[in-house]
Amino acid sequence: MRDDNCIFCKIANGDIPTNAIYEDDKYKVILDLGPATRGHALILPKYHFANIYEMPAENVAEAFSLAKRMAEEMTDRLGADGFNIVQNNNEVAGQTVFHFHIHLIPRYKGDGQTVGWKPGESTPEELSKIRELFQKSSS
Ligand code: AMP
Ligand code: ZN
Repeated sequence: MRDDNCIFCKIANGDIPTNAIYEDDKYKVILDLGPATRGHALILPKYHFANIYEMPAENVAEAFSLAKRMAEEMTDRLGADGFNIVQNNNEVAGQTVFHFHIHLIPRYKGDGQTVGWKPGESTPEELSKIRELFQKSSS
């Protein structure tokens, strides 16, 4: 369940002290050391899965259910104007700590942050080809 070489396993299970804003038997929510905005926090499961691919769907659902509750409470307590929920998987997607975690990022009018992507371009043909990848084969 735990990986002895994983820093988030150590933090989530109390081996390394941290600033936690929520804790239960399965999760710890800690303040990010390099916050995008005031109150930026991370949901850390106390059990180890590297990413969303490895984590069972029930656990993912439970973690995101906690994200919803934290978004409401943090928006209220911090006086935020909006909220981003971000979850990175694999290095190419920006993951730097390979223990599943959910970013909780309160947003404030004029905070100057950007959480997002550069919009690209598409063609009807390309979108259609992608949609076809998701059509079930009839055989
Ligand atoms: P990601 O890039 O999605 O893997 O996010 C990793 C996040 O963990 C970054 O936002 C870091 O600022 C944060 N972080 C790394 N080490 C610590 C730590 N010891 N305590 C709190 N936050 C951390
Ligand atoms: Zn871990």
